[in-house]
Amino acid sequence: MRIHRVYTNQRLAAGQAVVLDEDSSHYLARVLRVVAGQPLVLFNGDGHDYASVVENASKKGIVAGVNTRLPGAAESPLRSTLVQSVARGERMDFALQKATELGVTVIQPVESARTEVRLKPEKVEARMGHWQKVLNSACEQCGRARLPELRPPMELVDWASSAADGLRLVLAPAQDQPLSQLALPSAVEVLVGPEGGFDEQEMELLLRSDVKAVSLGPRILRTETAGPAALAILQSLAGDFR
Ligand code: SAH
Repeated sequence: MRIHRVYTNQRLAAGQAVVLDEDSSHYLARVLRVVAGQPLVLFNGDGHDYASVVENASKKGIVAGVNTRLPGAAESPLRSTLVQSVARGERMDFALQKATELGVTVIQPVESARTEVRLKPEKVEARMGHWQKVLNSACEQCGRARLPELRPPMELVDWASSAADGLRLVLAPAQDQPLSQLALPSAVEVLVGPEGGFDEQEMELLLRSDVKAVSLGPRILRTETAGPAALAILQSLAGDFR
C-alpha cells in the first residue's frame, strides 16, 4: 500500500492528534479513500517527516495521530533561487511545480517590460495562495519536507538593485557562456525571462548590476521549460542527482 504524504500548516509533534484541513481531508477521504488504521506521512515544512496513522476518517475531516518525527532527506546541497518572470496561468504553475521537484530553495516572481499578464495589486494575495498550493502539492509528491520559500512578486528593476543571494545569472539565448560549464558556487540565483524575453534596456541594466548572462544551448526554450532545465543543470553540477 502506498503511504500518502500530506502537507499541513499545523504544528506537529509525536503523540499529538491533528485534524487535517478540509481540502486534504476531502482528497484523502473521497479520492484516495483512506480508512482508520492506515499509515500516513505528515509534514509542515519544518524539514521533518512525521510518521502518522489515520485515527478517524469521517465527513467532518480526517484525524491523524502523529507517531514519530523523522529527518527529511530530500534537500539539495545547493542553495538556489528561481527568479521567474510571471507567466500566464498554467505556465507559471508548471515552472513552480517543476522547480520544487528539482529542489529549488527560494522562488522570486518578477515582472518586467514584456510580462504578458500584470498582477493587479488586489489579486496578488490570491495568486500567491494559489502558487503556494502548487508548491505544497509538489512537496507532497516528491518527498521534500521543506517548502521552497515563495516571495511576493517584485519589479525586475527592484530585483536588480536588491542584495544578491549568491551568484546571479540571467538565462539569455545566444550567449557564449553555457550554464553547463559554470564553476558552481554554493548559492545561485537564476533569472528567467518572459515569453518575449527581456528588452535591450533590461539586459543592459542586468549586466551593469553584476548579473552574468548564460545560455542553455542552441534551442529557444519556453519560459516554463528554461527554469527547470537550468535547475537540473545546476543540481547536476552540485551533485544532487547522485
Ligand atoms: N524571444 C525571446 C525568447 C524568450 S524564451 C528571446 O529571444 O529572448 C523565455 C526565456 O527563457 C528567455 O528570456 C530566457 O530567459 C530563457 N531561455 C529560453 N531558451 C534559452 C536558451 N537557449 N538559453 C538561455 N536562456 C533561454
